[in-house]
Amino acid sequence: MKCAICKEKIENTFLGKIKGTHVGKKVVCPACQKKHKNNFKEFL
Ligand SMILES: [Zn+2]
Repeated sequence: MKCAICKEKIENTFLGKIKGTHVGKKVVCPACQKKHKNNFKEFL
């Protein structure tokens, strides 16, 4: 999966979960979540 905002590849954890937040069918990486706080949905 790639981050919907910065297009960086998002890795999976050893549990198979993605290191990011799902927003609908898209994924946002933790860095972008921090950067945009709760407004990241506007960038999708
Ligand atoms: Zn990102």
